[in-house]
Amino acid sequence: MEQNKIEVIIVGAGPAGIAAGITLARANKKVLIVERGSFAGAKNMFGGAIYVEPTKEIFPNFLEDAPIERFNIEHRYVLLTKEQSTTISYKTQEYTKNSCSIIRAKFDSWCVEQAKKAGAYFAPNTVVKSLILDKGRVIGIKTDLEEYYSDIVIIADGVNSLLAKQLEMRKTIKPKNVALAVKEVYKLDKNIINERFNLNDNTGCVCEFIGYPMDKELGLGFLYTNKNSISIGLGIGLEDIKKQKLNVNDVLEELKKHPTIAPLIKDGELQEYSAHLIPEGGFKKIPKLYANGVMIAGDAAMLVNNLHWEGTNLAFKSGKLAAETAIEALNNNDFSENSLSLYQQKLENSYVIKDLKTYKDILNNIEPRSASFFGYYPKKIAEFFKIFTTVNAKPKKQEFRKYICSWFTDRSLRELICDIFTIIKSVMGVLK
Ligand SMILES: Cc1cc2nc3c(=O)[nH]c(=O)nc-3n(C[C@H](O)[C@H](O)[C@H](O)COP(=O)(O)OP(=O)(O)OC[C@H]3O[C@@H](n4cnc5c(N)ncnc54)[C@H](O)[C@@H]3O)c2cc1C
Repeated sequence: MEQNKIEVIIVGAGPAGIAAGITLARANKKVLIVERGSFAGAKNMFGGAIYVEPTKEIFPNFLEDAPIERFNIEHRYVLLTKEQSTTISYKTQEYTKNSCSIIRAKFDSWCVEQAKKAGAYFAPNTVVKSLILDKGRVIGIKTDLEEYYSDIVIIADGVNSLLAKQLEMRKTIKPKNVALAVKEVYKLDKNIINERFNLNDNTGCVCEFIGYPMDKELGLGFLYTNKNSISIGLGIGLEDIKKQKLNVNDVLEELKKHPTIAPLIKDGELQEYSAHLIPEGGFKKIPKLYANGVMIAGDAAMLVNNLHWEGTNLAFKSGKLAAETAIEALNNNDFSENSLSLYQQKLENSYVIKDLKTYKDILNNIEPRSASFFGYYPKKIAEFFKIFTTVNAKPKKQEFRKYICSWFTDRSLRELICDIFTIIKSVMGVLK
């Protein structure tokens, strides 16, 4: 690098930053990825599964070479009341086709090695303090050590994105538009994991927990199987945490004690505890994504599809599209806002914005009815299965009648109508 000047600087070595870096390096552009952690992945946490197709688009060789924990063959949706659970499970044997569990510290490090092999420079242990501007154009970064200059900066610094805030491209996130997630990792022998989840050494299982103890708020629990450990955690909207004065750690403790969950992590040795924010604003909260000399990708751009636990794929894709835009801008020697607006067009033509648009109202619709969808209905579903599976000396018709009547007597008719209306509105919103 001459006089601290390079063609593109990327802030953040998460999936968005690395995808941008490797795409630029493969096109023989000079690119520097700056990361505050001592290595890529050091500061990062997620559930987590990555998705095969979107990951292959960036790393065609990843199935053979990357540190993958397990390929998920089962996805369980577990509806919880305090003592019961009802599980819907989808299982497939096409296990290398959809998702795999990974550990970010290992996986992100592998990704950055690929970017370095392709020719990208990587600067770990370097905190970007601010962006350098000249006549309204971003021309570089100020780190805790020195200043670096570039034609384009790609901001991929994650959910808090202080740099997007510096440019006033993003405002401070409101509690309504973000969830707080906590996660614990339990070390367990692989044979025990295989036995408990009916897996082999390569296959994995994902569980989503809906209902108790997150039965009054917009919150979900998750569990992922790794090779020799289990990740368990939950995420709850920050506004609900504030309103209900929740301690998220206490909620996780309660979740782990549930009779359906406790045996899954029994005798596990706590290895790790972490917490992180998840953008929840969706389509309506996507900020302006480009300006003179700068683009924003991944979580920094609020690109997360919460309903499907999708974030890394949107980060990979947006990072790649930002890099492709940067390549054109470098070839044309034009780093203006107008030139970089191509990034917005590329994103709009991709599944990233299309999917976020599809779900744009769903969380807003559901949030006021959280107590219904996360508390009341899991309870009613469990009640139904209790009646259906219980053999006693009572006539079945009498039991079913009592159950059906309870739908109209447990709560007001108005509540039921509101819930039905919410479902119709949400489905119509998705199909529109
Ligand atoms: C609990 C939880 C569960 C999740 N589960 C899943 C899942 O199962 N599947 C999925 O696809 N997604 C999941 N996600 C979402 C996913 O993790 C994110 O969408 C994804 O990591 C975004 O990638 P990114 O590169 O934009 O940001 P990040 O991964 O957050 O990376 C940002 C990087 O920037 C660095 N950085 C920040 N500020 C600076 C600075 N000033 N200077 C230098 N470096 C800086 C950080 O250290 C970090 O390495 C989950 C998220 C959470 C919190």
